[in-house]
Amino acid sequence: MLVLLFHIYFVTSPQGKRCRTTQEKDERDKEQHPLLPPCQNCRRQCSNTFTDKQREDIHRDFWTLDFNRRRDFLVHNVVVEGKKVCTRRNESRRQISLVWSLGGKVVCKTFFLHTIGYKGDKVVKSALKNANRDGGVVVGANSDGRAQRTPSEV
Ligand SMILES: [Zn+2]
Repeated sequence: MLVLLFHIYFVTSPQGKRCRTTQEKDERDKEQHPLLPPCQNCRRQCSNTFTDKQREDIHRDFWTLDFNRRRDFLVHNVVVEGKKVCTRRNESRRQISLVWSLGGKVVCKTFFLHTIGYKGDKVVKSALKNANRDGGVVVGANSDGRAQRTPSEV
């Protein structure tokens, strides 16, 4: 009887409709992001910096992290750099560029994303955006972290 119930539950419930646990979601995410080939003909020669084994290790370690820690990984390894660039008309403007690194070594964007199994940088951009928002300094915060309010706001 138990076996029959088991059968009914798993066979009759439509795939994907069933509530998934976080662990199952992580497992599915990992399956959807296998290790991708390294960059080709890259100036940085990233493939010479890391062996295939090291890439596999980085990929495996990344996918053993939970969602929040994966986000931390991205935020810590992708640094936003703002450079002042002088244009021809002598105007200066800030140019934002991202510096990608793995294990403390700078690599190109393709190598970074492909090593952790992503095809595009959407997930990185959203992680960086969230980090800016979460880590934003509260203006006038007390040393204990509580925001100060002016009497008019109370
Ligand atoms: Zn490269």
